This record gives sequence, C-alpha cells and structure tokens, in this order.
Amino acid sequence: MITVEDIRGVLSKYNKNKLTISTICSHSALQIFHGARSLKFRTLGVTTPDRRFVYEAFPLAKPDIFIEVQGFKDVLRKEVQEKLVEENCVIIPHGSFVEYVGASNILNMLFVPTFGNRTVLLWESDRSKQMEWFREAGLKTPREFKNPSEVDCKVFVKYPGAKGGAGYFTADSAKELEEKIKWTMDKKLIRSIEEVSIQEFVPGVRYYFHFFYSLMLDGGFRVGNGRLELLSMDKRIEPIDEAYRGLPNVPEEFFDYTVTGNQPLILRESLLKDCLDMGARVVLASRRLFPPGIVGPFCLETIYHPSRGFTVFEISARIVAGTNLYPQGSPYTPYLFDEPMSTGKRIALELKKALESDRLEEILY
Ligand code: ATP
Repeated sequence: MITVEDIRGVLSKYNKNKLTISTICSHSALQIFHGARSLKFRTLGVTTPDRRFVYEAFPLAKPDIFIEVQGFKDVLRKEVQEKLVEENCVIIPHGSFVEYVGASNILNMLFVPTFGNRTVLLWESDRSKQMEWFREAGLKTPREFKNPSEVDCKVFVKYPGAKGGAGYFTADSAKELEEKIKWTMDKKLIRSIEEVSIQEFVPGVRYYFHFFYSLMLDGGFRVGNGRLELLSMDKRIEPIDEAYRGLPNVPEEFFDYTVTGNQPLILRESLLKDCLDMGARVVLASRRLFPPGIVGPFCLETIYHPSRGFTVFEISARIVAGTNLYPQGSPYTPYLFDEPMSTGKRIALELKKALESDRLEEILY
C-alpha cells in the first residue's frame, strides 16, 4: 500500500514551479491537457504509439511531452513512474486510467502524486461499498437482491466492475432471471451468481451530475470545509434509447445498455435543490467514511421518477467522460466563474490555487 506519507515524501522533492499535469491519453485527456495549458501548466501524456497521432491532431490539447508505453498498465513500471516523478508530474485519474491500471494497483503500486484522495477507489470500485456510501449519505438507491428467488419486480443485472453497461440485462420475473443467469454462467460470462449485482429496475429519466468538491475556493455552497460546485450534467446515449423507435419490430440486439455517447442537459431549475442536496450528502458521508473524504470531481448517476424523485445508482469518483461536452464550460459554469471553465480546467485551477497557498498536500494522494 502506498501511503499518504509516501506521496508526501515524493512531493517534498518536487520542483513546484515546474509542476506538470499528466494522465494517460484516453477518456478525457484532451480536456485535461487543454484545461491545464490554459492555466499555463506543463503537460505530459502517457500514450500507446497508435494513439499518439490523435493527441497531435488537436494542437491546443496536445501534451507538451509524450511518454510512449506498449500498454497503459506500463505506467506502473518503475522506470515510467520515475520519469513522471522526474518531470514533477501530478497524475489526474480518469475512467480509463482506473479501468486499465486497476484500482488495487493504483493503491498498492503508484508512487506518483495523484490528484484527489485515492482511498476513494476502495469505495468506488466495489458496488456493495458504493451502496454503503449511499446509505450513509441517506440517498435513495435501487433495491438490491442477493437471491434470484426473492425477486418480486422487474430487475436490472450488472456484471462486476465498470463495463460501461456492456452486456447488462433485465428480467421481468424470478424465473426469467434464473434462466438468464444460467445462460450467462453457461457462456462463462460469470463464474457464480455472487458476481452479479441484481437491482430493482428503476424507470425514469437519467441524469448524470458532474460535481466538483473544492478545498481551495471560498464562497458558494459551503459543505464541510469546502465548496461544492455543480459544473455540468449529461445524459448517456445507449442503444436501448433507440429501441422503442419503430416498435414492434425491435431487433433483440438493440436491448443494449452500452454507453455510446453523451448528450448535454440542463435540469428543471426547481430540481436543482435535490441535485445539490445529493451532492452535499455524498461529500459529507465520504468525510465520515474515509477522512478527509472525496476531493475534486465526481459524478452522481441518477434516475428521476416523477413520484419517487431521484434514485442514485452509481458514483464515479473522478472526472467522467460526459464532461467532454463542455470544454468551454456548461450552462452552469458562468454562474460560478467569470471565465470559460471545463472540469479539466477546474482541476488545474484547484492545483494552481493550492500551489499559490502552499497547500498542495491537501489535494494530492
Ligand atoms: P459506468 O461505470 O461506465 O458508469 P457501469 O458498467 O458501472 O458503467 P451503470 O452506469 O451502473 O454501469 O449502468 C449502465 C446503464 O444501465 C445506465 O446508464 C442505465 O441506463 C442502466 N441502469 C443501471 N442501473 C439501473 C437500474 N437500477 N434501473 C434501470 N436502469 C439501470
């Protein structure tokens, strides 16, 4: 396990005037580099050779330095990490970073300072821990079933880990569920029933809220000893969204929940109260469960039902790809900042403020 003290030791040797914002070239890296550049940070991208041209194709979001690796997991190799330290890098973890490198590898092997509190990975990467976090926060969550025979409503079944919805399925009864689980086991998609998460199917409109919890800026919505910002929101596009077009002849393969894109969204203003309240509860619960709690960007994935309100079914405790919609800011950021503000730039701004006040240690682990 890499401890906070280990990271502080590495950080103490950094040349803070040359702090470099770094991540692997995937997911939201263009936005992260673009935001960092606009605040005059150096940037470093860890890339595979076949992707490098993508980042060269967007000169204003291209990292100043590339490190080429054969696979993203190579970021853990000692020589790569030592190079990152030599370049005074702070890693910005994003969805692909966590998925490719692995939460436990990050916790146990990554000695490069990382933006945010990496302990959150222990809570984010395990669905049952996520639910524990939501319960501590007092949020409405989908009912969960351990045993298929207990099922008394339409259910939604997920595989372990973040799969972007790939292969997830629904069942209308205990019998249908048992048949489908048997099929997935026969196909060796899972080894045992304990691996899947069986949730009540929540009908409604999906909203993905992009928050930022700042320890560096004053004013605004005070939560704990920081400020909670609602930066933007999106809706994910999944093939299932198109399934109802052209009914009744919908091909079976359209019943698919894999994320394929993101749409911009704003919320009916009277619902902002509920949205901000959920964000605040999640922050406060994180401070109780794993002090000092969550730092920086996170996304609450919710479904709104007219009579039941918001149900939270997932949290991503880092920058999400839906924020890529807003490189110049969202319909909400003008109410928070006098300048264009993406989530990528917001991360850089938090680092800049921490540098100016010599408080980097509070936001890196
Ligand atoms: P990611 O990590 O990329 O967010 P994931 O693999 O963890 O994806 P979820 O985000 O939990 O998967 O779910 C994928 C999609 O499945 C959602 O966008 C939503 O459309 C649908 N979904 C998830 N849970 C439920 C539920 N309880 N009821 C109805 N639909 C659901």
